[in-house]
Amino acid sequence: MATGSISTAFTGPHQPNALACKHSLPQSWLSITIIHTNFNSPNSSNYPHFSFRSIPDGLSETEASTTDLIAFSMLLNVKCVVPFQDCLAELLGGGDDDDDDDVACLITDAVWYFTQAVADSLKLPRIVLRTNNVCSFNAFAAIPLLYEKGCLPMQELEELALTNLKQQFPIPNFPIGPFHKYFPASSSSLLAQDQTSISWLDKQPPKSVIYVSFGSLVGVNATEFQEIAWGLANSKLPFLWVVRPGLVRGTEWLEPLPKNFLEMLNGRGHIVKWAPQQEVLAHSYVGAFWTHNGWNSTLESICEGVPMICQPCFGDQLVNARYVCDVWRFGLHLEKKLERG
Ligand code: UDP
Repeated sequence: MATGSISTAFTGPHQPNALACKHSLPQSWLSITIIHTNFNSPNSSNYPHFSFRSIPDGLSETEASTTDLIAFSMLLNVKCVVPFQDCLAELLGGGDDDDDDDVACLITDAVWYFTQAVADSLKLPRIVLRTNNVCSFNAFAAIPLLYEKGCLPMQELEELALTNLKQQFPIPNFPIGPFHKYFPASSSSLLAQDQTSISWLDKQPPKSVIYVSFGSLVGVNATEFQEIAWGLANSKLPFLWVVRPGLVRGTEWLEPLPKNFLEMLNGRGHIVKWAPQQEVLAHSYVGAFWTHNGWNSTLESICEGVPMICQPCFGDQLVNARYVCDVWRFGLHLEKKLERG
């Protein structure tokens, strides 16, 4: 290295865009070239001993002004690959036959993770520069272990199940969704959505409301219905309850409800025939969802981070509730007979 030159790539708190540097010392035994992006480019006149090479980062104006720093850094790691590789290849091939111009190694900030593949492809050793402290490095280094121990969520909710499925059914399959965060449900709603759900929610304390809905198919008998009603009344918590016409078998709507039930609760409970469920679950005043665990309801609740009280009735609802409570662990399973206690 004493007679060579170093091509380094780095970023630091003052020059988060700088990629590589080359510095010619008077003795000409070492030179450093900095490869940097146009974005936040360093002032080369402050560093007369270094050579500078600018590469295009290819960012649009919108991309360059994003506030999502993680997404931004990931994007740069994609956009810079080709320009950086070209620039480095030019540096490597640009010298005369004098060994003094060989690039001895590449120094790049850990944030520029794409540079490892470039270094490998050009058979250059790479030194990784970390600009944060050792404590945070150790904490980040523990992340794979935390995944392994199940302390952190897996990338995909059903990743393991998907792997098993592919082994059992070796045919092409294409997981899609969840779509709940992308498309409003109102256009395809089964029944008219009662918007008083939202205006009533607006008046409750934050994270206090139990939202109760058993979807479009589940039915209960009059006794079960009354037990739910008393359970909600006894909870002393505000509740928004979807009682779909026909939910209580053999009745039109609210006939089995105890007399003066809502009046007795002084506005603590609100009953609607059908709610704008996604909007309700996204409302910050909802604290829990008492659900039959239809897959749509389950996903919608997960997407909004609302914990569930699970009351599955049939079919996949039973498996969904088991996973919600015992595997993903964001719900409580009501497994006993429906009783107000
Ligand atoms: N839903 C709604 N308003 C309600 C109750 C339910 O919009 O008052 C919607 C809910 O958002 C979900 C669907 O109806 O998308 C119910 O589907 P799920 O798979 O949970 O249960 P199913 O009706 O198939 O039993």
